[in-house]
Amino acid sequence: MKKHNFYAGPSILSEYTIKNTADAVLNFADMGLSLLEISHRSKQFQAVIDEASALVKELLEVPEGYSVLWLGGGASMQFCMIPYNFLAKKAAYIDTGTWAHNAIKEARLFGDVDVVASSADANYTFIPKGFTVPADADYFHYTSNNTIYGTEIRQDPDVPVRLIADMSSDIFSRPIDVAKYDAIYAGAQKNLAPAGVTLVIVRDEALGHMERAIPTMLDYRTHIKKGSMFNTPPVLPIFSALQTLKYYKQLGGIRAIEKIDLEKAGILYDAIDNSKMFTGTVTDPADRSIMNVCFVMTPEYKELEAEFVEFATARGMVGIKGHRSVGGFRASLYNALPVESVRALVECMKEFEAKH
Ligand SMILES: *Cc1c(COP(=O)(O)O)cnc(C)c1O
Repeated sequence: MKKHNFYAGPSILSEYTIKNTADAVLNFADMGLSLLEISHRSKQFQAVIDEASALVKELLEVPEGYSVLWLGGGASMQFCMIPYNFLAKKAAYIDTGTWAHNAIKEARLFGDVDVVASSADANYTFIPKGFTVPADADYFHYTSNNTIYGTEIRQDPDVPVRLIADMSSDIFSRPIDVAKYDAIYAGAQKNLAPAGVTLVIVRDEALGHMERAIPTMLDYRTHIKKGSMFNTPPVLPIFSALQTLKYYKQLGGIRAIEKIDLEKAGILYDAIDNSKMFTGTVTDPADRSIMNVCFVMTPEYKELEAEFVEFATARGMVGIKGHRSVGGFRASLYNALPVESVRALVECMKEFEAKH
């Protein structure tokens, strides 16, 4: 039986992505060669990376003047590449979780960092509101979805400076007004592809304004100029990303996907809200992530948490144990997760509650 995969990342991919990647590992583009053994400079692979970049632009409605890059190093590499290329004097960051915190730490190596708000003292159970972003900041950086804590900022923030966002765990789940951004980045292993590639969308004219020397590999202009082939790019994850993007287009694009994502999250949050046994960890429902749903057992039932994980595992659920810094449960409902899996989890919760 295929499992219900609620892992937070690496995470579920569409069957379309996995099947086409498996086929290409055996015979890529009818070359009589595996995807694993071809040159990244072959015309067949060039077609893959070109189509993937074009589909990113089409699906996210990326305006003229932006480049799509496929880089190594994970989203974590972007924590330093962003300030290297964009932070001249001062940048504004909001501290909404572990990943945001890590991005802030790196930015401090490059200039002043104004942390405009933080929910660290409340274990990141909410998104701070009413903060002020200074108009003289070089950019405002935020993490759109806090994968570990289950909070999400689902609107492009309205602030007086350019935006930069880590969208690793919710990219392709809502329309984005890309024109407000100087850069958007996302590690692939949540909503796009196997681990190994990071998608970066960068505004060309925002680059080239730093006085500092930037190492060649960490300078976005290198990768723009070389079409993400300054060095060998992660061939297999890029091929898989193309499959996922084609699949997203078949589903009807981002607005269609968003509708399905909202439905899936709605089903699970309703079940949590209507339960005596389970309760959500995010304090304000407006901050709830539609990608990662975090919940725990109420104090009365707390000691049954481990038993519930076992109960769910026996029914084919995987990956529902919460991150160690939150505890309880986390169900990740990424784009590729079918609604049937959400229904199966809800069934499982109801059955367990009835049993106790
Ligand atoms: C997973 C994740 C990261 C880390 O990504 P790596 O590719 O492992 O560096 C960063 N930010 C967010 C929001 C994430 O979910």
